This record gives sequence, C-alpha cells and structure tokens, in this order.
Amino acid sequence: MGESSNIENTGFNFSEEMLDEIQKNIQSIIEGFDVPDANKTDVIRKINFMYKQTRHLSLTDGLTGLYNRRHFEANLEREFLRAKRYKNALSIAMIDVDFFKKVNDTYGHACGDYVLKEIAFLINEAFRKTDMVFRYGGEEFVVILTETDSDNAVVPLERLRKAVESNKFKYNNQNLNITISIGVSSNLENTNSPWEFFELADKALYEAKENGRNQVRIYR
Ligand code: GH3
Ligand code: MG
Ligand code: MG
Repeated sequence: MGESSNIENTGFNFSEEMLDEIQKNIQSIIEGFDVPDANKTDVIRKINFMYKQTRHLSLTDGLTGLYNRRHFEANLEREFLRAKRYKNALSIAMIDVDFFKKVNDTYGHACGDYVLKEIAFLINEAFRKTDMVFRYGGEEFVVILTETDSDNAVVPLERLRKAVESNKFKYNNQNLNITISIGVSSNLENTNSPWEFFELADKALYEAKENGRNQVRIYR
C-alpha cells in the first residue's frame, strides 16, 4: 500500500485535535444564534451530545469497539513524525488471524464475529495504556507501541500470541482453536515515511504467514 492509496481511502481524515477544534467552533456559532439565553444552554448541550456521539462513531469500529482505520492513519503519521523528531523508539505491529476464512466458512459469519470480538478483548488486555490498538480491517488489527524498540515490543506481542493460542474460544458448544500471526516494524532509521514504516510490518506479517503462522516476526 502506497502513500496515495492511504490518502484516497481515508476520506475525511480528521485528527482528534481537528475534531476538538470543530467542537469549539460549534459552540461559538451557537453562542451567536438569535435564540433566548434560556434555550441557548440547552441547544449547546444537545449539539455537544450529538457531536460526541458522532465523534465516537467516526473514530471507532462498531463490532469490536476498538479505534478504526481512519483513526489509525492519523495516529500513525503523528507518532512516526514525533518519534523521528525526538529520536524515540517506535514499533508498530500488524496482527492477522490465521485461517480466519475457514472459521466463517465452517461455523458461519456470526461465529467469525464472535472470534473477532474475543480477540479484540485479548489485544486490549495485552498492552499498556500508552499503546494504541486499532481494528485495521476485517481480521486485521494494528498496535502502535510508542517509545518501544523491537525487543520490548516482542514481550507483549508474544504474550498476546500465547493468550490467543490458549484462549478457550467456544461458539454454540463448539471449541475453536484460533491463532494469530504478527508482523513488527521497528526500524525507524531506514524508513522515510509513516507508510513505508507501516509497510515493513506488513512484510514481516507476510513472513510470519509463510513461515508457518502463529508467530511474531520482526522486519529488520
Ligand atoms: P491467513 O492465515 O492467510 O490470514 O488466512 P485467512 O483465511 O485469515 O485470510 P483471508 O484474508 O483469505 O480471509 C480473511 C477473512 O476474513 C475473509 C472474510 O470473510 C473475513 N472477514 C473479514 N471481515 C469480517 C468480519 O467483520 N466478520 C467476519 N465474520 N468475517 C470477516
Ligand atoms: Mg488478513
Ligand atoms: Mg487472516
């Protein structure tokens, strides 16, 4: 995936900061409305509520509750530039469920959805508050690990891999064995753009798949 394809896909790619700026403007526009002062507070309160809901919907994924791809793209860019500027370590992990199509084909789409929700929960549990977890696409998740080099990234990622492998997935009394493959990119020095940096995680993931799945691979 190149830089241009990401830009095309994002559409309205507002960062959190931009969204908050919009909210401030809404407030000042309403302040200027010709409505009785008594109603003004109520109008502002209602619009703020709607705004918060819209903001939440625009940043999160409905199935898993995780941040969505749009939000990932804004954060990837920011964290990449920040890490470069301050010479901080940065790692990004791409997580993909192994043979997920088979789960859907064998047990149905609803079962696939159940597995995705369960995995999202396990991913959320495995990382620090400062790490950011996103659902990138279908059965693909991304984690941005700030101030984390590859050696330190492998620790929670291996923990997650094992947690998924040993988790008791059960759907309609059917036990499921689920595993994930993970590709990690940590090599900031040799990458010039956030997308290039991200692409290395994708390459590492491809290697993990080729090498037998259910493993963590780092692109060096
Ligand atoms: P691999 O180990 O190579 O990753 O194999 P795979 O079967 O996981 O890979 P593939 O990309 O062929 O299949 C991904 C499947 O994910 C295909 C699609 O049906 C399923 N999928 C994507 N999004 C959703 C979703 O939201 N819910 C469900 N249930 N399935 C989804
Ligand atoms: Mg996939
Ligand atoms: Mg897969």
